[in-house]
Amino acid sequence: MISRIDLRGSAVSADGGFDRDLLPRAELDVEAALEKVRPICDDVRHRGTAALIDYAQRFDGVTLERVRVPREALDEALAELDPDVRAALEESVRRARIVHRDQRRSDSAVTVVPGGTVTERWVPVERVGLYVPGGRAVYPSSVVMNVVPAQEAGVGSLAVTSPPQPEFGGLPHPTVLAACALLGVYEVYAAGGAQAIAMFAYGTDECPSAQLVTGPGNIYVAAAKRLLKGRIGIDSEAGPTEIAILADDTADAAHVAADLVSQAEHDTVAAAVLVTPSVELAGAVEGELKEQVAVARHRERITEALSGRQSGIVLIDSLEDGLAVVNAYAAEHLEIQTEDSAGWAARVRNAGAVFVGPYSPVSLGDYCAGSNHVLPTGGCACHSSGLSVQSFLRGIHVVDYSRDALAEVTHHVVTLAEAEDLPAHGTALKARFAGGEQEGTSA
Ligand code: NAD
Repeated sequence: MISRIDLRGSAVSADGGFDRDLLPRAELDVEAALEKVRPICDDVRHRGTAALIDYAQRFDGVTLERVRVPREALDEALAELDPDVRAALEESVRRARIVHRDQRRSDSAVTVVPGGTVTERWVPVERVGLYVPGGRAVYPSSVVMNVVPAQEAGVGSLAVTSPPQPEFGGLPHPTVLAACALLGVYEVYAAGGAQAIAMFAYGTDECPSAQLVTGPGNIYVAAAKRLLKGRIGIDSEAGPTEIAILADDTADAAHVAADLVSQAEHDTVAAAVLVTPSVELAGAVEGELKEQVAVARHRERITEALSGRQSGIVLIDSLEDGLAVVNAYAAEHLEIQTEDSAGWAARVRNAGAVFVGPYSPVSLGDYCAGSNHVLPTGGCACHSSGLSVQSFLRGIHVVDYSRDALAEVTHHVVTLAEAEDLPAHGTALKARFAGGEQEGTSA
């Protein structure tokens, strides 16, 4: 079911790097999806709610009269939420708040020279749109992971959108609605896919536009975020989920297989990759996968994900090579199940999140570790971070120089302005010292 990719031998380059093209990864053609989502986004821009209602019919199979979810539906969903699910969500929120509250930053002022300060003020984005997926699976956990950092950052206006569900009268899934109400979010929309991102970017008669849109989703969501980036800010492209596991023969094959299956369960294009120098572990994991997938609830989806070209068991010569492989792969989720797992984890440079040792599985991070589960996929972890309080803040430099402090540096500014052939820049400073009394200027 899952293929083997044998990179033992010479695959690691002399500088210890690794060619990413050798590794399993889905060819998720976001560029092709861009062409699909462009007309959808344009349509929402021009026809607003009417377009959203049409796409809900076409893609989600529901007939909507309005896209905004009424407040009563949110209250009702919370009132009817299973008490165990409520308790688990509350614990997830509690832990996420501990971690995200700690990410808050205070302003910092630096005195560059006497009389010259630069202060960095951290200001929350005013209005954000949070996407909670809901095609193949429903993700109340993604409500928590989007809303908690936005709230901790101090965002004033936040709205959630999630695909309408035919079996719930065109509303988003009740657990998603209940999670919103639990967190005090009462602006919720029944819209999914690219059209939901366009709703936030352009605004409609029901939904004011947002400055920033965050949240994971499928390829259409990722493509719309890429298309509309600039008009709106986005977090990373958090697409179909990925797990990579670096393991040696100290790992328990049953646990490794269970963790691979757990992420393959998300999506037919989810990626599950084991990187190991141990042929024995590889064989044992293959055996475990056969047994575990046969009895899994979503076995068809899992089988498709595990047998896709994005998944595989990568054999390498040593853990050192394995480290090069996982750094090149830049997985959304990386588990380290080796001897001295903390030591290897400390050397990881590219990953959305790292899960250390046998008792830190990715499923813990999906729900209740306190860490965020909205993480960069598709190799974006080599340049982007997961969602955090920082995602919702902007740092504004506040420059405050006195007359003397400006006078002292004017000649350097004039020199650089002239070197760039932008003399008006220099004039703007010189004009302030028309009497010529600033120190050190050649003017
Ligand atoms: P989704 O909400 O992302 O997408 C569903 C929507 O896609 C539908 O409402 C519909 O509007 C649109 N759509 C479906 N088919 C379409 C088509 N042919 N053309 C245009 N639009 C279409 O839900 P999903 O599909 O279940 O995907 C969720 C994804 O989010 C999964 O891949 C999962 O792995 C991922 N995820 C990622 C993270 C992360 O942090 N990276 C976290 C949670 C989930």
